[in-house]
Amino acid sequence: MLDLALLGTGGSMPMPERFLSSLLIKYKGRKILIDCGEGTQVSMRLLKWGFKSLDLILISHCHGDHILGLPGLLTTIGNAGRKEPMVIMGPQGISNIMKGLLTAIPYLPYDVHIAEVSELSIMVNFNDNGVELKELDEGNKSHGDLIISTLELDHSSPCIGYSLYVPRRPKFNPQKAISNGVPKKLWKSLQEGKPVTYEGKTFEPSMVLEGKRKGIKLSFITDTRPIATIPDFIRGSQLFICEGTYGDEKDIERAIENKHMLFSEAARLAYEGEVEELLLTHFSPVMDKPEKYAENALRIFPNTTIGYDRLIRRLNYP
Ligand SMILES: [Zn+2]
Ligand SMILES: [Zn+2]
Repeated sequence: MLDLALLGTGGSMPMPERFLSSLLIKYKGRKILIDCGEGTQVSMRLLKWGFKSLDLILISHCHGDHILGLPGLLTTIGNAGRKEPMVIMGPQGISNIMKGLLTAIPYLPYDVHIAEVSELSIMVNFNDNGVELKELDEGNKSHGDLIISTLELDHSSPCIGYSLYVPRRPKFNPQKAISNGVPKKLWKSLQEGKPVTYEGKTFEPSMVLEGKRKGIKLSFITDTRPIATIPDFIRGSQLFICEGTYGDEKDIERAIENKHMLFSEAARLAYEGEVEELLLTHFSPVMDKPEKYAENALRIFPNTTIGYDRLIRRLNYP
């Protein structure tokens, strides 16, 4: 299972009750953050999930409302005693921006590695040294801790959407292991997906495992217009977190001009992508009460929730 919390649900500028874009994900005791607008570390402190175990920060794009919380948060993580390196991933331009932001905090007690990405799928494993990122191994997809995929979006600055997939291992079948003549002492390694050579013979995980099991999929799309590639990218997500900068249908021209979405456009993507739940975020500061416009999304996609700061969700294997 995976836990997540919306740390901030605003766009443009922070408001007293609404910090800027940020999502915290907790899995196996480790943490991933997506976006880090102003107010992120304050919201994180209110949440009380801790700072030290944050291994990976994914940035959608380099607009201030998604990154200006970084210098303060990175400092606080250092003060919390982190020594392990941290990885920050983002679109084209993130390396230069980070170089600038890091000059404001020259004495971090851990290394920060920056990865500039466009469209990719990578396997993520957590270990004692933080996080390890590898090229996705198609043959052994079910044995990483997480798979992260990215999609190029349509915004006024290079911007990427993220999907996270938590694979679920196939079921162990002792009957199959016995009939394949697998010695009992090898069962555990094979169950963990590692082939073993024993007494000159190689044993494969497929000799003890059977069937495919569906994992947990979560996607995060902000800031963008609703482009045609999004439904396939988010397809089958248990939770689709999406920007809904404007609730009022009258704001369509503003949405087109600023490269954002209406609630109704996000809801259509959720419908086309056959997700289970839509969670709206990144509300314009002119929208005092986003829930006032909920109906504009609900009539298209009934399982829609209007996000708010520190909304918490637990996602379990289906
Ligand atoms: Zn934004
Ligand atoms: Zn933006």
